[in-house]
Amino acid sequence: MTVSIALFTADLRVHDNPVLRAALDGADETVPLFVLDDAVRAAGFDAPNRRAFLADCLASLDEALRERGGRLVVRRGDVVGEVCRLARQAEARDVHVAADVSGFAHRREDRLRTELESDGRRLHVHDAVTTVLAPGEVVPADRDHFAVFTPYFRRWETVAPRRPLGAPRRVRVPDGVREGELPARSAVSGVSPGLARGGEQEGRRRFAAWLSDGVDAYEDRHDDLAGDATSRLSPHLHFGTLSPTELVHRARERGGAGADAFVRQVCWRDFHHQVLAARPQAAREDYRTRHDGWRRDDEAADAWREGRTGYPVVDAAMRQLAHEGWMHNRGRLLAGSFLTKTLYVDWRVGARHFLELLVDGDMANNQLNWQWVAGTGTDTRPNRVLNPLTQAKRFDPDGAYVRRWVPELADVEGGAVHTPWKLAGLDRAGIDYPDPVVGLGEGLDRFLRARGVR
Ligand SMILES: Cc1cc2nc3c(=O)[nH]c(=O)nc-3n(C[C@H](O)[C@H](O)[C@H](O)COP(=O)(O)OP(=O)(O)OC[C@H]3O[C@@H](n4cnc5c(N)ncnc54)[C@H](O)[C@@H]3O)c2cc1C
Repeated sequence: MTVSIALFTADLRVHDNPVLRAALDGADETVPLFVLDDAVRAAGFDAPNRRAFLADCLASLDEALRERGGRLVVRRGDVVGEVCRLARQAEARDVHVAADVSGFAHRREDRLRTELESDGRRLHVHDAVTTVLAPGEVVPADRDHFAVFTPYFRRWETVAPRRPLGAPRRVRVPDGVREGELPARSAVSGVSPGLARGGEQEGRRRFAAWLSDGVDAYEDRHDDLAGDATSRLSPHLHFGTLSPTELVHRARERGGAGADAFVRQVCWRDFHHQVLAARPQAAREDYRTRHDGWRRDDEAADAWREGRTGYPVVDAAMRQLAHEGWMHNRGRLLAGSFLTKTLYVDWRVGARHFLELLVDGDMANNQLNWQWVAGTGTDTRPNRVLNPLTQAKRFDPDGAYVRRWVPELADVEGGAVHTPWKLAGLDRAGIDYPDPVVGLGEGLDRFLRARGVR
């Protein structure tokens, strides 16, 4: 009997999973393993929303494996130590895992390979499991990665991704391997009250609904804050309960302008992953320094975190984040621009807060989107500033998004909700909502001077 280990990481699914497939095909029996990593916890990266969503994902994966005759084996501790111990116990020769892009993941992978090889075992790292194309699969002539999205997308579009794989019919787990304990969502405290449910089944249900009744309108409606007309699949892509490759295949099969726009957006994920793979330090340091002398303004940063900046559309977005552990992309853009440009506070302050709450929060997409917004990343117009009032007029013209998330303003009708400071006497006096923390003109002037363009 030969035995392999399928080490699940950000690929918590049975459909279209090259790691699971290779592990099953390469041995008579397979241990499907997930390790709750102590290092992730020590780094504070296991925020409650992601921990709760992960618990759903592991329960759903266990169920899918049981339907196929197997089960999920769970361990806690140091991933390298736990995998090696289990490999020895189960006499597994081969360990399969998905490639990942962060510096943390690279170091873990190197350690795992060394330890396994010193014990006569082999690590197989599979590309294009968590992204459509592997980082480095398309590169410009003169560099190791693309630094601008549009040329990346043009090349990315011309490469056919691998064919999606079906789910395995049968999973044979060796006898005598202790299962370990699945974490329970109910045991996690501090979870956002409106957090979505995780798991492959839920992800597939959402994706099917999105394809039949959502994607067609995506191109026209993706920026409509109140319309909430994006896929909300980001947590499923983050945890790998959906395969990005399968998403792209099926969206292309569906076709149309909405599906094209959706695929382009999924490409942004690959884009940021290939940047981080080539420049892991961009998780912490400016990708392109603008020599910023960021302000430290704890009071303003707290107002921003709490959704009390006095700019209703920014505050609505921040409160959506707190309530759902998720925020509309347009909200992320304008809340990010407000912090880094209008308040001129370091993007890392914002990125940290987002990582504490976002259920889809990850190193590649969060840190590099923050850098994009701050103008220290890959945006070709680094000094653009999103004016929250102009943005509100365009993307929440009737004010419905603000009324949904800022109850203090629920009785203010129409677009007037975006400028409560303009309300007349008694109307204003009756509302417990702060005045703006800073004037937009003042913020803009300060930022442009700091960047040396005024
Ligand atoms: C400051 C800031 C921080 C962000 N942090 C994260 C994060 O931690 N994790 C994350 O997944 N996304 C992040 N994004 C990107 C984007 O906002 C979310 O992916 C998107 O809002 C998720 O909603 P959706 O699934 O409905 O997206 P849809 O509009 O339906 O798009 C489909 C998929 O494409 C991908 N995608 C869309 N836009 C982007 C983008 N700009 N960058 C990378 N991938 C994208 C996502 O995987 C998304 O699920 C951030 C954006 C900003 C401006």
